[in-house]
Amino acid sequence: MKTVSLEQEINPWEAQSARFDFAAQKLNLDEGLWKVLRYPNRELIVHIPVAMDNGKLEVFTGFRVQHSIARGPAKGGVRYSPDVTLDEVRALASWMTWKCAVVNIPFGGAKGGIICDPHKMSQGELERMTRRYTAELVEFIGPEKDVPAPDMNTNEQVMAWMMDTYSMHMRQTVTSVVTGKPINIGGSRGRREATGRGIMIVCDEAIRKLGLRPENTRVIVQGFGNVGSNAARLMAQKGYKIIGIIEVDGALHNPHGINLEKLWAYREKNRSIAAFPEADKADPAELLLEDCEILVPAATENQITSRNAARIKCRILAEGANGPTTAAADEILAGNGVFVIPDILCNAGGVTTSYFEWVQDRQGYFWKESVVNEQLEDIMVNAFHDVVRFAEAHHVNNRIAAYMLAIDRVAYTIRQRGIYA
Ligand code: NAD
Repeated sequence: MKTVSLEQEINPWEAQSARFDFAAQKLNLDEGLWKVLRYPNRELIVHIPVAMDNGKLEVFTGFRVQHSIARGPAKGGVRYSPDVTLDEVRALASWMTWKCAVVNIPFGGAKGGIICDPHKMSQGELERMTRRYTAELVEFIGPEKDVPAPDMNTNEQVMAWMMDTYSMHMRQTVTSVVTGKPINIGGSRGRREATGRGIMIVCDEAIRKLGLRPENTRVIVQGFGNVGSNAARLMAQKGYKIIGIIEVDGALHNPHGINLEKLWAYREKNRSIAAFPEADKADPAELLLEDCEILVPAATENQITSRNAARIKCRILAEGANGPTTAAADEILAGNGVFVIPDILCNAGGVTTSYFEWVQDRQGYFWKESVVNEQLEDIMVNAFHDVVRFAEAHHVNNRIAAYMLAIDRVAYTIRQRGIYA
């Protein structure tokens, strides 16, 4: 891959494109299909007026990008953050296309976001902003068109507002327009933990492949939000030794293993993990480089770059977040023999269970949690082995194998649909 500046390296769109180009070239993808798949289908920018609690009017900028609808309706989360950019949303939308194809579910890829600081907004302000954003997207989204879901700083409540706003415009309740909803209004059992559960499932497969057992597998998790906290808790229940947790306001280290049930209860009570008494305080950047068997970056993008990749000591990198590793870091990790479970495979448990939620909403029949978890396990295990087999057969690393598998599936569908006519 070509040499790039650090600024380019940490641009998620550049990171996505570098892997896409490399995988497409390995696949000998024809030039026309390369052009079709390299850029998103549709990009919408909206400017949303919101009445703030202080009586003033504020205008927020939001995005929705649909990368591909070749394999089914576009699917992807909505994030609220002060540093959302169109390039980031483009990259995330493309990753959704590849992710849905890797786990072989009938969706394309999309993503959305609003530039805002949700931690500085009241519930009322968030609700008005969410409703106005949804209203702007009414013609763009829908159960057969594009199905949003939660992502960073959005949650079940935000999905309930989106569902309600869309339903008001349709003059009927349409639960299947978004996933990640509360259970009593069309959500799926198991969705909340699904991304974390999926991470655990692929880690189980990876340690088996490397000859490890959960009891002798030390894990460090970065990010204790939806993905990281559920992954850590479920892995601890399985017997993995969680020795480190890294958050924005501090990091915790306990070489004997952190009691996740206690930490969970502590976080529920204190809204932070920073002062948890049963672990040592650690430097967040240093803890990422600590010796362990599995490192789970489950916070945000660009945590492992050309600057720190050579000092990463884990044997398995299980990418819970989207885009935590840059393309330049990939080569360093590969050189050091790190077994990478790439984001588009590792965190696909969330979208897979979102797919189950969409199916249940359309069926009007809701599954038991054990059924959801069993179906999820089946899909994640198959996807893991598909990617590993592809990597071995084509002599590429797991990430490029996952991209190749995904691009091949999407390209096959496009050829079959015959869009050139
Ligand atoms: P979240 O907002 O619930 O949690 C993110 C957590 O990471 C927060 O606790 C935040 O304080 C922490 N964090 C942010 N920056 C950090 C940093 N630099 N160091 C340490 N901690 C940091 O979000 P989430 O839903 O858990 O999503 C996390 C990542 O997983 C994102 O990249 C998201 O796109 C991806 N993802 C989420 C889902 C899902 O189902 N929620 C599915 C697939 C992928």
